[in-house]
Parts: sequence; C-alpha cells; structure tokens
Amino acid sequence: MINRMNDKAIDQTADQLLATGFKESHLDRIARASFLIVGSTSLAMACAGVLVASGARRITIVDKSLAALTRLSDSFLQNTPVQSKEQIVRFQLLQNLDDSDNALAKLAAQADLVLDCSSDWQDKLSLSDLCMELHRPLVHQAGHALRFHLYSMMPGQSACLRCLMERLGIEDAIQDPSSEYYFVPAIGLLASAMVLAATKIVSRYGVNQANEIFCFDALSGESEVLRGFDPSSDCPDCGRLNR
Ligand SMILES: [Zn+2]
Repeated sequence: MINRMNDKAIDQTADQLLATGFKESHLDRIARASFLIVGSTSLAMACAGVLVASGARRITIVDKSLAALTRLSDSFLQNTPVQSKEQIVRFQLLQNLDDSDNALAKLAAQADLVLDCSSDWQDKLSLSDLCMELHRPLVHQAGHALRFHLYSMMPGQSACLRCLMERLGIEDAIQDPSSEYYFVPAIGLLASAMVLAATKIVSRYGVNQANEIFCFDALSGESEVLRGFDPSSDCPDCGRLNR
C-alpha cells in the first residue's frame, strides 16, 4: 500500500520539481515504485535515507544476518526524520541471498528496482542472475575504501555482472569477500549516486546509460566512465534477453 506523503516529506522532495524537465509525474512514479535494497550495510542505510528524502515510499531492506539487520533497523529508525518512516521502510531477514532462496526471488519479483548494497561478491553475482531472470533493473556497486564503481544493469540492454567482471578483468575480486569496506564520507557519495541512478530509472527521468560503468577514486579525485558493456550474445544470462 502506498503511504500518503505528509507535509514534511513534501517539503523534502518538492525542490526536485525545480530540476529541468522533472515533473509531478516523475515524483509520483518514485513514490509508487518498490525499491529492494539487498544487504544491511552502512551503504544500505545511506541509500534508504536518500530514497526517503527523494520521495520513495516503498522500500524493503533484506539481509541474511539478523544482527546486522537489527543494528541497521534501530539506527535507521532513530536517525531518519520522517514521521511515517516505519511504514515506508521494511526490514526482512532471509535465510540466504543466493538465487535458490525463494523469499528473495519473490521480493525481487515484486520490486521495480533492486539496489546492491551487499559487500559479498557471491551475493552480488547471485543478485545479477536473479535480476536478469526476473528482468529487474539492478543498481550495482563495488569498491574499497575511497574507490568505487557504479553500474546500472538493465536486463536486455546491459551485460550481466558475470560478463562485466570478465571484461573488466576483476574476476579475482570474488576470491576475497571481506575486502570491501568504505571510508565513511565515501558512503554518502556512493549512496547518493546509486539513488540518483535508481530514481531516474523508475521515474523515467533523463537518460540512463545501460552499458556504462562509472568509476571514481575519491582520494585522487579522478573519475572515469567505461562504455560498451552491452549484452554478450553467447551469455546464457544477459545474451538470452538480447536475442
Ligand atoms: Zn552475461
């Protein structure tokens, strides 16, 4: 059920209407869209906060760790200044985050878009498989300390995460699932970039480059956009949707 925006929420989101070409209809699509956040990391909390401030009203955060999910839930409910936040953001514990977990598949099928806030590469790859299978956009990120990359995977238009990793030559990243953590100020930067991509996709505002990956090094200040990550014709995941 969609929660009616209260006055405070309207104040928070109304300034977006000042952006060129951004209309009430875009804001309405954001409010009606269902966002699924996978992983109960600090990044997940930051994404949820920016989503709420952007006008999102249907957010579900899932994880397989009860302790991490409880910490996130307590912290989010204390720090997010929205009166009806309890009805906007739901927290749900799952047994697994791999594609054999029917609960995750059901939630992803109900969502309009999935945000990858996991720090585990096996979970990221499973999420890519699931989103390709269900034809759901996935806003993916990965990184370490002050560096990150951001990739909006649009099934039918984008390479899957397995093909992306192969083309980037970073298959080895999966060998060390504990290596991913972020410098605190970089978390807010990445969360805002992820939510910007997510809200543009669900509201159909502006241009979404489905075959680009954005790489940023906050330490050096250098950024790079790599292009050409189209579906692979011989891939059973991304290639299947492009035939
Ligand atoms: Zn692929």
